[in-house]
Amino acid sequence: MTKRNQLVVQKFGGSSLATEELLRNVAKIVCERRAKGTDLVVCVSAMGNTTDELLQLANRLSGERSPSPRETDALMSTGELVTAPLMGIAIRGLGHEAISLSGRQAGIRTDETYGSARIANIDPQRVLDELARGKIVVVAGFQGLTQAGDTATLGRGASDLTAVAIAAAINADVCEIYTDVDGIFTADPRLVPEARVIPHIGYEEMLEMASLGAKMNPRSIEMAAVHNVPMLITSTFNPNASGTRIGNFEDTDIDMEISKSITGAPTERSIGRVTMQGVEDRPGIAASIMTPLAEAGINVDVIVQNVSSDGLADISFTVKEENLVRAAEITSQNTDVDFASIATRDGLAKVSVVGTGMKNSPGYAARMFRALADAGVNIEMITTSEILITCIVEEAQLQAAANAVHAEFDLGTV
Ligand code: ASP
Ligand code: MG
Repeated sequence: MTKRNQLVVQKFGGSSLATEELLRNVAKIVCERRAKGTDLVVCVSAMGNTTDELLQLANRLSGERSPSPRETDALMSTGELVTAPLMGIAIRGLGHEAISLSGRQAGIRTDETYGSARIANIDPQRVLDELARGKIVVVAGFQGLTQAGDTATLGRGASDLTAVAIAAAINADVCEIYTDVDGIFTADPRLVPEARVIPHIGYEEMLEMASLGAKMNPRSIEMAAVHNVPMLITSTFNPNASGTRIGNFEDTDIDMEISKSITGAPTERSIGRVTMQGVEDRPGIAASIMTPLAEAGINVDVIVQNVSSDGLADISFTVKEENLVRAAEITSQNTDVDFASIATRDGLAKVSVVGTGMKNSPGYAARMFRALADAGVNIEMITTSEILITCIVEEAQLQAAANAVHAEFDLGTV
């Protein structure tokens, strides 16, 4: 009986493919892996900042009218349509057989939501056929075909999603994401010198890390979790990086070794807060406040309501700083809600701790708050979930806050 080769999807991002030299470097990484007897699907992003440049060009040409979503997607998809055949050509140049496929040719079907299309299904037959012919299959990331036969893109940064979706569809052993850092860090290394690469992380924790700063497309993590695709996040540029493995480690032996209760301390800058004072306290109020913000596409993050004795409440919520003025405007024009006054504050930031280990044990919040207090950091707002504690602090104190929390939970050592 012949043993089947390992089957791996490798994804390379734009910064790994920004120049001719870098394309060649990636082709080399791919071929070295192939030479070890691995069957490979290689998913590529557009070169460097190509997608941004195409968008800027479209905006300049569109005059008074904004470019139609259909045309914008047809345009944006071309970045990856250039990289894929170039990669195929470079791989062949190094002596291995390769074929490049567009999203459509790779069987990726999407809904019609241009700019952030959802993958409806994947027919992986062509990819599997080419693999069976011994080819390295290079797939253009970030795009698929709508039912109407048009190209739709999957959202910014969504080549990750293409890679995971294909890995799920062909039942690959692992989906490897190559990027310009060594993996997922315990904290932002620019803020916390002791930050180190997390060797293993669960999907649930990674989702919190992904939405809190570590640069991964969150939808790709969701997809990997649903289809149980093991992932590796590692460096294109550092061959010695061991990277971060994402998967289900709960039932494995390494669990004992890796189970630190806290996995990471992600941070986020540039947060603004809207506070409504003297809000009438009746059912439906929160919904009435949030609905117009949601309709304007403004994401509301931390929400805190203070109960008051006189039937009035104060409600505060945070948004990205860039949305603060608009969020305050929309809220003050809200005729469905009675309130006394509105106040805004910018220059805030978010520091969190993430870890499934705190699910059933109390005391983590107290430790975090104590560490912040000892570092002289004032906590403006607090929110928690089962695996997450988040504090809003002054942005000027973010570095002190991140280091204090990182040290408190001993995240700098394995
Ligand atoms: N090229 C696309 C973007 O810049 C997709 C990706 O890089 O993953 O958003
Ligand atoms: Mg990118």
